[in-house]
Amino acid sequence: MDKRSKKVIKETVRDRIEHLLKEARSSFRTHPERSVRYLKLLWKLVQKYKVRITKEQKLSFCKKCFTLWVPGRTVEIFFDQRNSVIEYKCKKCKFKRRLKYK
Ligand SMILES: [Zn+2]
Repeated sequence: MDKRSKKVIKETVRDRIEHLLKEARSSFRTHPERSVRYLKLLWKLVQKYKVRITKEQKLSFCKKCFTLWVPGRTVEIFFDQRNSVIEYKCKKCKFKRRLKYK
């Protein structure tokens, strides 16, 4: 496969990812299980095509249980100012994600 068609595929996949995230967000309230399905699909695409997703997209859901992360509802966010770290803790599966911030 040449470089150009690879690029086209990645762009298509990225669009698809954005779309899936949007769907997951809009279905979360009424059909949380549906949003999990969208996010699983999204993650499969990321791994299959090795596309980079934005930091914001990465922090939109739990990579372990695929729950959409809504601050205060499904995720707790802690600021560790001394170490300049933000910690995300999934309320559903307790999965933790630590991030450095500046
Ligand atoms: Zn989780």
